[in-house]
Amino acid sequence: MTEPTFATLVSRWYEENARDLPWREPGVSPWAILVSEVMLQQTPVVRVLPAWQAWLARWPDPAAVAADTPAEAIRMWGRLGYPRRAVRLRECAVAIVERHGGQVPDRLDQLLALPGVGTYTARAVAAFAYGQRHPVVDTNVRRVVCRAVAGESDAGPTTRPADLVAAEELLPVEPAAAALASAAFMELGAIVCTARAPRCGICPVESVCAWRASGQAAPTGPTRRPQRYAGTDRQVRGLLLGVLREAVNPVPRQRLDQVWADDVQRSRALAGLVTDGLVEPVGEASYRLAGDGPPLPVG
Ligand code: SF4
Repeated sequence: MTEPTFATLVSRWYEENARDLPWREPGVSPWAILVSEVMLQQTPVVRVLPAWQAWLARWPDPAAVAADTPAEAIRMWGRLGYPRRAVRLRECAVAIVERHGGQVPDRLDQLLALPGVGTYTARAVAAFAYGQRHPVVDTNVRRVVCRAVAGESDAGPTTRPADLVAAEELLPVEPAAAALASAAFMELGAIVCTARAPRCGICPVESVCAWRASGQAAPTGPTRRPQRYAGTDRQVRGLLLGVLREAVNPVPRQRLDQVWADDVQRSRALAGLVTDGLVEPVGEASYRLAGDGPPLPVG
């Protein structure tokens, strides 16, 4: 009898140990999976769960959010962080309605052509919503492959074409089994083969892991420091958006001036929000979320 493959070992482990997350349940729509993937890119699961449920309760399909304003998408995004994702997700919904009759496409090229959908998200939707065989490579998968196959303690900061090739070589040929393996690799990296404290003793691939076999010391990664938030433009942008999210009418500049004392930093943050399409000026000295309220006069 042949030895089980790497993917088989991880997939068996996944079926026994995967976290119970609602976007993994049978029958979840491709749209719901796409929303989860966008939310999860830069935000922990525990914060995504309520936001994902609220978003889908309000907008169960792309047509529903496409018919609403960018301002409402920003409001629903709440404090998930990186709110430009909300605007891009709505733009993605508009494109799905216009190009695909409101159905999330199942072809990788069509997914990649959607606003805000990159290499990772397109393949994740194709695999997890449509059961296709694609390498779905996020930070966690790169780390697992790097350690288990290449015997190195940590992967580089960004996904390279070689990472996709390395992950694809591990996938079973049969599409559904490959999609399951992709989910399993991600989960292994998220909860067992973590950056700082891999739990090799309970890992399903310990016996075949090149990094483990090399007898290396425990990794010290990640080498990137956690991003500072306090005092950054991100914090100021969050404070400005917090005021605008609560407002029913355009907010005078004087009111926004109260959220942060540093004039230069506050002005820069506000200008950035406008440039990013999250906020728009109204008249000479007021602001509102993009598309909030009646259309602005042209010219
Ligand atoms: S044995 Fe350790 S290093 Fe290797 S894949 Fe498992 S958790 Fe990661």
